[in-house]
Amino acid sequence: MDLELLDRALESLGQPAFRSRQVWEWAARGAGGYEAMTNVPRALRDTLAESMPFSTLDVVSEARSRDGTVKTLFHTADGHPVEAVLMRFRDGRRSVCVSSQSGCPLTCTFCATGSMRFGRNLTASEILDQVLHFVRGERSSRSRGGARGAGPKGTVLGHGPGRHGAASGVRGGGAGLRPAGAGPAGGVTHLVFMGMGEPMMNLDGVIGAARRLPDIGITHRRTTVSTVGWLPGLERFVTEVSEPIRLALSLHAADPGLRSHLMPVNDRYPVDAVLEECRRYVTTRRRRVFVEYVMLAGVNDSVAQARALARLLGTDAFKVNLIPYNPTGSYDGSSRDAIERFRAELERARVPVTVRLTRGRDIAAACGQLAAAPRPRRAAVLPG
Ligand code: SAH
Repeated sequence: MDLELLDRALESLGQPAFRSRQVWEWAARGAGGYEAMTNVPRALRDTLAESMPFSTLDVVSEARSRDGTVKTLFHTADGHPVEAVLMRFRDGRRSVCVSSQSGCPLTCTFCATGSMRFGRNLTASEILDQVLHFVRGERSSRSRGGARGAGPKGTVLGHGPGRHGAASGVRGGGAGLRPAGAGPAGGVTHLVFMGMGEPMMNLDGVIGAARRLPDIGITHRRTTVSTVGWLPGLERFVTEVSEPIRLALSLHAADPGLRSHLMPVNDRYPVDAVLEECRRYVTTRRRRVFVEYVMLAGVNDSVAQARALARLLGTDAFKVNLIPYNPTGSYDGSSRDAIERFRAELERARVPVTVRLTRGRDIAAACGQLAAAPRPRRAAVLPG
């Protein structure tokens, strides 16, 4: 919900100051609508339901991958498309990948988001509503008896109930809600700012949302902000944010010329300055920075390039995450062997390295594939 609007509405209704927090806590625990908020006076619940949409986002469509990944396309109240992804892992982790902007003004050549029209920065509330959508969904699938597996490939669940009333198919109000502070209500455990957009161009929105995530059950240590190295935002993030939120840098090439070719933003904010800022993060937080490196066949995946990467990063400050390329049309992904050779070379140089699991590729929900492309065909829409 729009938390600023909520504050203003409550104030103009002459409500006590604690009311806003009370309403937010219900939403954060996965309540399906105002009617579930049983410690809020009924008349006030009714007034809010009439005057304030429960979510800032409308669900447009939802697709489910064979691996259990869910991608949701939302529209903001003013019609901008936004996508978010829920990933479910066997060990019980539930990770949500949120967008910080509708579209992205940057033009990384391997990423589909850059090819769609840039809309605008999202507000903190619009970022939180992406998460709360999945929190409610997980909660209701649990209370239905835990049908949490993957649906059929690409199933479009259709238009959600929208911003008014019970969202995400949650019916019946607050039954089964946990008391405040009882941990993750909807089972979402991790959050990454790796959807559409460049989070450091929208630091206020991103940090405003991140600061409220613990209320949803997602700790700062399980929250990661990913950046291309947008320096003004990154510097503020390192200087001003005291919470132990994790940082990831999309690097993709050690060589500045190649990096500029892949990511034109490198001409504006050169990689040396960006890495220096990352090292400042490591010094002040005592946490490694994750380095994301998408593996492009014949472009950045040679053993010599692995060696150059190891020299650039050193062994103390970074942990490399090699990302298999998810097809977006422009490149070929590296072979398994090439990825393995690259990984082994980094390991030999004692640079911590992992290979990222690819999720949701069959529904274009994987890294770099979020582009809010076509609106789903009506024929595919099932009744909610
Ligand atoms: N703008 C930020 C946040 C988005 S994160 C950033 O770039 O860090 C999205 C991640 O997916 C980035 O690491 C990005 O480089 C990576 N990515 C983009 N396109 C990809 C593709 N086609 N295959 C695999 N990873 C991709």
